[in-house]
Amino acid sequence: MTERIYDLVVNGGTVLDPGSGRQVRADVAVKDGKVAEIAPGLDGALADRVVDAAGAWVTPGLIDLHAHVYWGVGRGVDADRDVLPRGVTTVVDAGSAGSLNFPGFKRYVVDPARTRVLSFVHLSYIGLVGGTPLGELLKPEWADPEGATEVIKAHPDIVRGVKIRLEERAVGSRGKEILQEARALCAAAGVPLMVHICGATDPLSELLPYFGPGDIVTHMMTGRGKAVLEADGKVLPAVTDARDRGVVFDVAHGRSHFPFRVAESLLRQEFLPDVISSDVTSLSLNGPVYDLLSIMTKHLALGMSFEQVVRCVTSNPAKALGLAGQIGSLEVGGVADIAVLDLLPGDFEIFDTEGEKRITDTRIACRATVRAGELVPPAV
Ligand SMILES: [Zn+2]
Repeated sequence: MTERIYDLVVNGGTVLDPGSGRQVRADVAVKDGKVAEIAPGLDGALADRVVDAAGAWVTPGLIDLHAHVYWGVGRGVDADRDVLPRGVTTVVDAGSAGSLNFPGFKRYVVDPARTRVLSFVHLSYIGLVGGTPLGELLKPEWADPEGATEVIKAHPDIVRGVKIRLEERAVGSRGKEILQEARALCAAAGVPLMVHICGATDPLSELLPYFGPGDIVTHMMTGRGKAVLEADGKVLPAVTDARDRGVVFDVAHGRSHFPFRVAESLLRQEFLPDVISSDVTSLSLNGPVYDLLSIMTKHLALGMSFEQVVRCVTSNPAKALGLAGQIGSLEVGGVADIAVLDLLPGDFEIFDTEGEKRITDTRIACRATVRAGELVPPAV
Protein backbone atom coordinates (compact mmCIF):
# COMPACT_ATOMS: atom_id res chain seq x y z
CA MET A 1 0.00 0.00 0.00
CA THR A 2 1.19 3.46 -0.88
CA GLU A 3 1.92 5.62 2.11
CA ARG A 4 -0.25 8.73 2.20
CA ILE A 5 1.97 11.71 2.82
CA TYR A 6 -0.41 14.49 1.85
CA ASP A 7 -3.92 15.30 3.02
CA LEU A 8 -4.91 16.60 -0.37
CA VAL A 9 -3.50 17.26 -3.81
CA VAL A 10 -4.94 19.74 -6.30
CA ASN A 11 -4.05 18.05 -9.53
CA GLY A 12 -3.54 19.09 -13.12
CA GLY A 13 -4.28 22.82 -13.00
CA THR A 14 -2.34 25.97 -13.75
CA VAL A 15 -1.18 27.79 -10.64
CA LEU A 16 -1.68 31.55 -10.83
CA ASP A 17 -0.34 33.55 -7.90
CA PRO A 18 0.00 37.19 -8.98
CA GLY A 19 1.73 38.23 -5.75
CA SER A 20 4.73 36.03 -6.45
CA GLY A 21 4.43 36.23 -10.23
CA ARG A 22 3.99 32.46 -10.38
CA GLN A 23 2.03 31.17 -13.37
CA VAL A 24 2.88 27.58 -14.07
CA ARG A 25 1.34 24.17 -14.71
CA ALA A 26 1.74 22.52 -11.32
CA ASP A 27 0.02 20.43 -8.69
CA VAL A 28 -0.42 21.72 -5.16
CA ALA A 29 -0.05 19.35 -2.23
CA VAL A 30 -1.49 20.16 1.18
CA LYS A 31 -0.62 18.79 4.61
CA ASP A 32 -1.82 19.89 8.06
CA GLY A 33 -3.58 22.94 6.66
CA LYS A 34 -0.50 24.23 4.89
CA VAL A 35 0.85 24.12 1.35
CA ALA A 36 3.39 21.29 1.38
CA GLU A 37 4.57 21.37 -2.22
CA ILE A 38 3.95 23.13 -5.54
CA ALA A 39 5.37 21.12 -8.40
CA PRO A 40 4.36 19.32 -11.57
CA GLY A 41 3.66 15.61 -11.45
CA LEU A 42 2.83 15.17 -7.76
CA ASP A 43 1.37 11.73 -7.25
CA GLY A 44 -2.30 11.82 -6.27
CA ALA A 45 -1.90 8.34 -4.81
CA LEU A 46 0.16 9.92 -2.04
CA ALA A 47 -2.87 11.94 -0.87
CA ASP A 48 -6.05 11.09 0.98
CA ARG A 49 -7.97 13.28 -1.39
CA VAL A 50 -7.46 14.53 -4.93
CA VAL A 51 -9.09 17.65 -6.34
CA ASP A 52 -9.23 17.47 -10.13
CA ALA A 53 -8.11 20.85 -11.48
CA ALA A 54 -7.48 19.74 -15.07
CA GLY A 55 -8.13 22.69 -17.38
CA ALA A 56 -8.68 25.03 -14.42
CA TRP A 57 -6.75 27.81 -12.69
CA VAL A 58 -5.48 27.26 -9.18
CA THR A 59 -5.27 30.55 -7.30
CA PRO A 60 -4.83 31.64 -3.71
CA GLY A 61 -8.15 31.60 -1.84
CA LEU A 62 -9.95 34.80 -2.80
CA ILE A 63 -10.26 37.79 -0.46
CA ASP A 64 -13.42 39.91 -0.49
CA LEU A 65 -12.26 43.19 1.08
CA HIS A 66 -15.74 44.71 1.37
CA ALA A 67 -18.72 42.54 2.24
CA HIS A 68 -21.33 42.26 4.99
CA VAL A 69 -21.45 39.01 6.95
CA TYR A 70 -22.99 40.00 10.29
CA TRP A 71 -25.87 37.62 9.63
CA GLY A 72 -29.16 38.81 11.08
CA VAL A 73 -27.68 42.24 11.75
CA GLY A 74 -27.22 44.99 9.18
CA ARG A 75 -28.34 42.77 6.25
CA GLY A 76 -25.35 40.44 6.49
CA VAL A 77 -25.06 37.21 4.50
CA ASP A 78 -23.90 33.90 5.99
CA ALA A 79 -20.16 33.67 5.31
CA ASP A 80 -19.88 29.87 5.29
CA ARG A 81 -23.03 29.35 3.22
CA ASP A 82 -22.96 32.29 0.82
CA VAL A 83 -19.30 33.26 0.46
CA LEU A 84 -16.87 30.43 1.19
CA PRO A 85 -18.09 27.85 -1.39
CA ARG A 86 -17.56 30.48 -4.08
CA GLY A 87 -13.79 30.57 -3.68
CA VAL A 88 -13.66 33.30 -1.03
CA THR A 89 -11.62 32.04 1.91
CA THR A 90 -11.23 35.46 3.58
CA VAL A 91 -14.09 37.92 3.87
CA VAL A 92 -13.82 41.36 5.41
CA ASP A 93 -16.91 42.78 7.00
CA ALA A 94 -16.95 46.50 6.20
CA GLY A 95 -18.32 48.24 9.25
CA SER A 96 -21.41 46.20 10.09
CA ALA A 97 -20.12 46.07 13.67
CA GLY A 98 -19.25 49.02 15.86
CA SER A 99 -17.79 48.93 19.36
CA LEU A 100 -21.22 48.22 20.90
CA ASN A 101 -22.04 45.11 18.89
CA PHE A 102 -18.55 43.84 18.00
CA PRO A 103 -18.61 41.27 20.85
CA GLY A 104 -21.69 39.63 19.27
CA PHE A 105 -20.05 39.73 15.85
CA LYS A 106 -16.98 37.98 17.20
CA ARG A 107 -18.86 35.38 19.23
CA TYR A 108 -21.60 34.46 16.78
CA VAL A 109 -19.99 35.14 13.39
CA VAL A 110 -16.18 35.25 13.46
CA ASP A 111 -15.45 32.47 15.97
CA PRO A 112 -17.74 29.74 14.58
CA ALA A 113 -17.04 30.50 10.90
CA ARG A 114 -14.91 28.24 8.78
CA THR A 115 -14.33 31.24 6.54
CA ARG A 116 -11.61 33.61 7.77
CA VAL A 117 -13.73 36.61 8.80
CA LEU A 118 -11.99 39.94 9.35
CA SER A 119 -13.46 43.31 10.20
CA PHE A 120 -13.19 47.02 9.65
CA VAL A 121 -14.89 48.28 12.79
CA HIS A 122 -17.23 51.23 12.37
CA LEU A 123 -16.49 54.57 14.00
CA SER A 124 -20.16 54.63 15.03
CA TYR A 125 -20.72 52.49 18.10
CA ILE A 126 -23.86 50.98 16.53
CA GLY A 127 -22.10 49.98 13.29
CA LEU A 128 -24.49 49.52 10.36
CA VAL A 129 -27.29 47.80 12.28
CA GLY A 130 -29.87 50.26 11.05
CA GLY A 131 -28.29 50.98 7.69
CA THR A 132 -29.18 54.12 5.85
CA PRO A 133 -32.62 54.85 7.35
CA LEU A 134 -31.11 55.22 10.81
CA GLY A 135 -28.01 57.21 9.83
CA GLU A 136 -25.22 55.77 11.96
CA LEU A 137 -23.40 59.05 12.61
CA LEU A 138 -26.22 61.58 12.38
CA LYS A 139 -25.92 61.95 16.15
CA PRO A 140 -22.36 63.13 16.90
CA GLU A 141 -22.42 61.21 20.20
CA TRP A 142 -22.72 57.93 18.32
CA ALA A 143 -19.11 58.26 17.20
CA ASP A 144 -17.00 56.20 19.58
CA PRO A 145 -13.29 56.49 18.75
CA GLU A 146 -12.30 55.23 22.22
CA GLY A 147 -14.48 52.13 21.89
CA ALA A 148 -13.23 51.44 18.37
CA THR A 149 -9.65 51.78 19.59
CA GLU A 150 -10.28 49.26 22.35
CA VAL A 151 -11.75 46.77 19.87
CA ILE A 152 -8.76 47.21 17.53
CA LYS A 153 -6.30 46.69 20.40
CA ALA A 154 -8.15 43.70 21.83
CA HIS A 155 -8.57 41.89 18.47
CA PRO A 156 -5.72 42.88 16.16
CA ASP A 157 -5.96 39.53 14.39
CA ILE A 158 -9.57 40.24 13.39
CA VAL A 159 -9.93 44.00 13.19
CA ARG A 160 -7.73 45.37 10.42
CA GLY A 161 -9.09 48.91 10.08
CA VAL A 162 -11.90 51.40 10.58
CA LYS A 163 -14.91 52.07 8.34
CA ILE A 164 -16.96 55.21 7.84
CA ARG A 165 -19.59 56.26 5.32
CA LEU A 166 -19.59 59.89 4.30
CA GLU A 167 -23.09 59.57 2.85
CA GLU A 168 -25.17 62.63 3.78
CA ARG A 169 -27.84 60.27 5.11
CA ALA A 170 -25.26 58.77 7.48
CA VAL A 171 -23.35 61.87 8.62
CA GLY A 172 -25.40 64.92 7.60
CA SER A 173 -23.07 67.70 6.50
CA ARG A 174 -20.35 66.73 9.02
CA GLY A 175 -18.43 64.58 6.53
CA LYS A 176 -15.10 66.37 6.75
CA GLU A 177 -15.24 66.54 10.54
CA ILE A 178 -15.96 62.81 10.79
CA LEU A 179 -13.29 61.98 8.24
CA GLN A 180 -10.72 63.85 10.36
CA GLU A 181 -11.92 62.19 13.55
CA ALA A 182 -11.63 58.74 11.97
CA ARG A 183 -8.23 59.53 10.44
CA ALA A 184 -6.89 60.60 13.86
CA LEU A 185 -8.15 57.36 15.39
CA CYS A 186 -6.51 55.31 12.61
CA ALA A 187 -3.22 57.19 12.95
CA ALA A 188 -3.13 56.45 16.68
CA ALA A 189 -4.13 52.80 16.21
CA GLY A 190 -1.88 52.25 13.17
CA VAL A 191 -4.63 50.84 10.94
CA PRO A 192 -6.09 51.95 7.60
CA LEU A 193 -9.37 53.80 7.15
CA MET A 194 -11.99 52.60 4.67
CA VAL A 195 -14.24 55.37 3.41
CA HIS A 196 -17.55 55.00 1.57
CA ILE A 197 -17.37 58.06 -0.67
CA CYS A 198 -20.81 58.17 -2.30
CA GLY A 199 -23.44 60.69 -1.40
CA ALA A 200 -21.05 62.99 0.49
CA THR A 201 -21.87 66.67 0.65
CA ASP A 202 -18.23 67.62 -0.01
CA PRO A 203 -16.61 66.93 -3.38
CA LEU A 204 -14.15 64.05 -3.38
CA SER A 205 -11.29 66.41 -4.29
CA GLU A 206 -11.79 68.12 -0.91
CA LEU A 207 -11.94 64.84 1.00
CA LEU A 208 -9.01 62.96 -0.57
CA PRO A 209 -6.26 65.21 0.89
CA TYR A 210 -7.16 63.76 4.31
CA PHE A 211 -6.51 60.18 3.12
CA GLY A 212 -3.17 58.65 4.08
CA PRO A 213 -1.19 55.87 2.37
CA GLY A 214 -3.08 52.60 2.77
CA ASP A 215 -6.45 54.26 3.36
CA ILE A 216 -9.17 52.83 1.14
CA VAL A 217 -11.60 54.61 -1.16
CA THR A 218 -14.51 52.18 -1.38
CA HIS A 219 -17.22 52.28 -4.09
CA MET A 220 -14.64 53.85 -6.42
CA MET A 221 -16.85 53.34 -9.49
CA THR A 222 -20.00 54.85 -8.09
CA GLY A 223 -22.01 57.01 -10.46
CA ARG A 224 -23.74 58.82 -7.62
CA GLY A 225 -22.92 62.40 -6.79
CA LYS A 226 -19.44 63.81 -6.75
CA ALA A 227 -17.18 60.89 -7.42
CA VAL A 228 -13.90 60.05 -9.14
CA LEU A 229 -14.64 61.58 -12.55
CA GLU A 230 -14.78 65.25 -13.48
CA ALA A 231 -17.76 66.62 -15.39
CA ASP A 232 -15.89 66.04 -18.67
CA GLY A 233 -15.35 62.37 -17.78
CA LYS A 234 -11.65 62.62 -16.89
CA VAL A 235 -10.25 61.13 -13.72
CA LEU A 236 -9.99 63.89 -11.08
CA PRO A 237 -6.41 65.08 -10.54
CA ALA A 238 -7.01 64.61 -6.78
CA VAL A 239 -7.74 60.93 -7.47
CA THR A 240 -4.51 60.41 -9.38
CA ASP A 241 -2.61 62.27 -6.62
CA ALA A 242 -4.19 60.03 -4.00
CA ARG A 243 -3.15 56.90 -5.88
CA ASP A 244 0.39 58.25 -6.14
CA ARG A 245 0.38 58.67 -2.34
CA GLY A 246 -0.62 55.02 -1.85
CA VAL A 247 -4.38 55.40 -1.34
CA VAL A 248 -6.12 52.13 -2.27
CA PHE A 249 -9.07 52.16 -4.71
CA ASP A 250 -11.68 49.47 -4.11
CA VAL A 251 -14.72 48.58 -6.25
CA ALA A 252 -17.34 47.42 -3.67
CA HIS A 253 -19.96 46.81 -6.38
CA GLY A 254 -23.04 46.51 -4.14
CA ARG A 255 -26.54 47.29 -5.27
CA SER A 256 -25.80 50.69 -6.77
CA HIS A 257 -22.09 51.35 -7.20
CA PHE A 258 -21.12 49.90 -10.57
CA PRO A 259 -22.41 51.68 -13.67
CA PHE A 260 -20.61 50.46 -16.80
CA ARG A 261 -20.30 54.10 -17.96
CA VAL A 262 -18.00 54.89 -15.01
CA ALA A 263 -16.16 51.56 -15.00
CA GLU A 264 -15.51 51.71 -18.74
CA SER A 265 -14.34 55.30 -18.56
CA LEU A 266 -11.91 54.52 -15.72
CA LEU A 267 -10.51 51.46 -17.49
CA ARG A 268 -10.16 53.41 -20.76
CA GLN A 269 -8.09 55.95 -18.82
CA GLU A 270 -6.08 53.05 -17.41
CA PHE A 271 -7.26 53.80 -13.89
CA LEU A 272 -7.69 50.20 -12.81
CA PRO A 273 -8.98 49.17 -9.39
CA ASP A 274 -6.49 48.05 -6.76
CA VAL A 275 -9.11 45.81 -5.21
CA ILE A 276 -12.25 44.18 -6.61
CA SER A 277 -14.81 43.52 -3.87
CA SER A 278 -18.48 42.63 -3.84
CA ASP A 279 -20.17 44.60 -1.01
CA VAL A 280 -22.57 41.65 -0.91
CA THR A 281 -25.50 41.88 1.53
CA SER A 282 -28.70 39.88 1.90
CA LEU A 283 -30.32 42.48 -0.38
CA SER A 284 -27.89 41.87 -3.27
CA LEU A 285 -27.06 38.17 -2.90
CA ASN A 286 -29.71 37.23 -5.48
CA GLY A 287 -28.62 40.08 -7.78
CA PRO A 288 -27.13 42.35 -8.81
CA VAL A 289 -24.06 41.16 -6.84
CA TYR A 290 -24.52 37.37 -6.47
CA ASP A 291 -20.90 36.83 -5.44
CA LEU A 292 -17.32 38.00 -5.92
CA LEU A 293 -16.95 35.73 -8.97
CA SER A 294 -19.65 37.59 -10.87
CA ILE A 295 -17.98 40.93 -10.10
CA MET A 296 -14.65 39.48 -11.30
CA THR A 297 -16.41 38.32 -14.50
CA LYS A 298 -17.57 41.89 -15.19
CA HIS A 299 -14.03 43.24 -14.90
CA LEU A 300 -12.77 40.55 -17.25
CA ALA A 301 -15.55 41.50 -19.69
CA LEU A 302 -14.52 45.17 -19.50
CA GLY A 303 -11.02 44.32 -20.64
CA MET A 304 -8.90 43.56 -17.58
CA SER A 305 -6.74 40.45 -17.93
CA PHE A 306 -7.48 37.40 -15.80
CA GLU A 307 -4.14 37.92 -14.04
CA GLN A 308 -5.07 41.53 -13.21
CA VAL A 309 -8.47 40.46 -11.92
CA VAL A 310 -6.99 37.72 -9.71
CA ARG A 311 -4.40 40.15 -8.34
CA CYS A 312 -7.28 42.44 -7.26
CA VAL A 313 -8.83 39.64 -5.16
CA THR A 314 -5.64 38.08 -3.74
CA SER A 315 -2.32 39.86 -3.24
CA ASN A 316 -3.69 43.42 -3.45
CA PRO A 317 -6.37 43.04 -0.76
CA ALA A 318 -3.88 41.06 1.36
CA LYS A 319 -1.56 44.06 1.22
CA ALA A 320 -4.41 46.45 2.04
CA LEU A 321 -5.09 44.33 5.13
CA GLY A 322 -1.43 44.35 6.19
CA LEU A 323 -1.36 40.59 5.59
CA ALA A 324 0.78 40.35 2.44
CA GLY A 325 2.39 36.93 2.21
CA GLN A 326 0.13 35.51 4.94
CA ILE A 327 -3.03 35.30 2.85
CA GLY A 328 -3.74 35.90 -0.83
CA SER A 329 -0.66 33.94 -1.88
CA LEU A 330 0.34 30.36 -2.57
CA GLU A 331 3.68 29.53 -0.98
CA VAL A 332 5.10 26.33 0.42
CA GLY A 333 4.64 26.55 4.19
CA GLY A 334 1.81 29.08 3.86
CA VAL A 335 -1.83 28.49 4.76
CA ALA A 336 -3.60 26.22 2.25
CA ASP A 337 -6.40 28.58 1.22
CA ILE A 338 -6.99 27.75 -2.44
CA ALA A 339 -9.55 28.49 -5.14
CA VAL A 340 -9.91 26.33 -8.26
CA LEU A 341 -11.44 28.54 -10.93
CA ASP A 342 -12.84 27.78 -14.39
CA LEU A 343 -13.08 30.23 -17.24
CA LEU A 344 -16.28 28.99 -18.85
CA PRO A 345 -16.89 29.89 -22.51
CA GLY A 346 -20.34 30.89 -23.73
CA ASP A 347 -22.63 33.85 -24.27
CA PHE A 348 -23.39 35.46 -20.95
CA GLU A 349 -25.46 38.54 -20.18
CA ILE A 350 -24.06 40.80 -17.51
CA PHE A 351 -25.74 43.85 -16.02
CA ASP A 352 -24.46 46.90 -14.22
CA THR A 353 -26.21 48.53 -11.27
CA GLU A 354 -28.25 50.78 -13.58
CA GLY A 355 -29.66 47.91 -15.63
CA GLU A 356 -27.29 48.35 -18.60
CA LYS A 357 -26.51 45.07 -20.34
CA ARG A 358 -23.36 43.70 -21.94
CA ILE A 359 -22.65 40.31 -23.46
CA THR A 360 -19.47 38.51 -22.51
CA ASP A 361 -17.93 35.29 -23.77
CA THR A 362 -16.31 34.18 -20.51
CA ARG A 363 -17.64 33.55 -17.05
CA ILE A 364 -15.49 32.89 -13.99
CA ALA A 365 -16.80 29.97 -11.93
CA CYS A 366 -15.51 28.23 -8.83
CA ARG A 367 -14.86 24.49 -9.19
CA ALA A 368 -13.53 23.95 -5.68
CA THR A 369 -12.50 25.83 -2.55
CA VAL A 370 -9.91 24.65 -0.05
CA ARG A 371 -9.86 26.47 3.30
CA ALA A 372 -6.94 25.77 5.67
CA GLY A 373 -6.29 22.51 3.86
CA GLU A 374 -9.85 21.22 3.88
CA LEU A 375 -12.08 20.86 0.85
CA VAL A 376 -15.23 22.99 1.22
CA PRO A 377 -18.50 21.42 0.06
CA PRO A 378 -19.83 23.12 -3.09
CA ALA A 379 -22.49 25.84 -2.89
CA VAL A 380 -26.05 24.54 -2.80
ZN1 LIG B 1 -20.83 48.04 2.21
